Parts: sequence; structure tokens; C-alpha cells
Amino acid sequence: MTVEMATGGQGGITEPVMEPAAPLAASSPDAPPSRAPGHATRLRISEIFHSIQGEADAVGWPTVFVRLTGCPLRCTWCDTEYAFHGGQWRDIDEVLAEVARHRARHVCVTGGEPLAQKRCLLLLARLCDAGHEVSLETSGALDVAAVDPRVRKVVDLKAPGSGEVSRNLWSNMGHLLPHDQAKVVIADRADYDWAVARVAEHRLAERCQVLFSPVFGRLAPGQLAEWILADRLQVRLQGQLHKALWGEERGR
Ligand code: SF4
Repeated sequence: MTVEMATGGQGGITEPVMEPAAPLAASSPDAPPSRAPGHATRLRISEIFHSIQGEADAVGWPTVFVRLTGCPLRCTWCDTEYAFHGGQWRDIDEVLAEVARHRARHVCVTGGEPLAQKRCLLLLARLCDAGHEVSLETSGALDVAAVDPRVRKVVDLKAPGSGEVSRNLWSNMGHLLPHDQAKVVIADRADYDWAVARVAEHRLAERCQVLFSPVFGRLAPGQLAEWILADRLQVRLQGQLHKALWGEERGR
């Protein structure tokens, strides 16, 4: 049995993603992604579905979502806890074929924390090779340095209200490209003040788009808008269009 360990920085929870009994691959599960067929190209997938992108720069585009299983974090306001466990092992070729069947240009690789499975890097590159506009939603706790530069990264900064502020991997700020986005989910005024300070400290608005998003059901979007306007911040307020359309229905 092979275990791919989703490690999320120092001292945090680790979430093992267990391979079922299968022929052992020649390489370690932590080896760099390979294009060799079989075991080395499998990922634990929670779900694949076609919907409208509800967040970030690609909001509104019909998008295929590929949700990977597992996450080493436990944000207090997480809305995808069902992706912490379960799912199915699927070969990357099979994932690409299912994505193609939906005939959407945009593909979002999300989780959980998709980078907790190292083969996610190969999936991202293969999706780009297939001609898709690819985005990656990541917690900001794992290193994004090796992500294909064609991918639009949406990198979270975990504010104190998430309960995971210590997990921010600040070296990731150096890997943000102009088409990427740094996103802060904000639960209250303390989170907002923290976010404003981090944006200034890391000059994030000069690196990429900065997104401020209120925690659904905890901070009124209008309140966050007032704070942004009062401070003349050059950040984008974002909601969650999919929740306006379908509430918290899974697979939407
Ligand atoms: S990083 Fe994302 S998936 Fe993981 S606990 Fe936080 S919100 Fe949930």
C-alpha cells in the first residue's frame, strides 16, 4: 500500500491520501510527476462537475471543476469538508477525457488542497497542453513554485479568523505572476485589518490582482465594500456567484 502524505508546511495536520492495494510503482509516491502510464499518474479525485465559475478572475465562465481529495488545513469556515476524505483514484488520462466531454474552455483544479497530491502538477500541465484555460485554487500553505506558469493561480492568504494563519507560506508571494490572484477570505474587522497590512507588507497589489471575499453568512458583503471604499484600497471585492445561483448545493 502506498501513502501519499499531504504535508502542509511545518507542524500542521497531515492528511494521508491512501492508495488502494495496487502494483507498486518503481518510483516513490513523492517522486516528481511522471507521464508514464499507470500508478504514477493517478490522483484521488473527489468530484468532477460542470458549472459556472463563482469566484476569482474567471467568474461567470462555464467551467469544469476537478476537485482533488484531501487537505492538511482545517479552516473554521471551510465549505468543502466533504473533500477531506473519500473520492476515487483516477488516472490523469481518464480525468482529461471526462473534462473534455464537458466541452468547456475553462477548467478549475480545486480541493481540498489540490497541491497536497504532488501529481496535481502533472494534471495542471496536461490540462494546459490540452488547450484549456486552467486555474488552480490553493490554500497558500503549500509551495506553488513548480506550478506550470500557464496556470492562473488563486492563492489564499489565511487570515486569523480561518484558524490557520500560521500556515501561510509567505515565500509563495514571490511566485505570483500578473495573471494570478491573491485571495483573502475575511470573517470580521480584525481579518480585514490583517489583510490590509499583509497586502501592503508584500506589495501584493503590484504583483497581481488582490481579492477580498467575505465569509458567507458571517460578514455582510456590503460592510466589506464600505471598508474597501473608505480605505481607497486597490483590491477587488468578490462574492460567490455559485451560491447566489444555487445556494450551498454540492457539485455546483
Ligand atoms: S484550505 Fe480550503 S479545503 Fe482546506 S480547510 Fe481551508 S477552506 Fe477547506
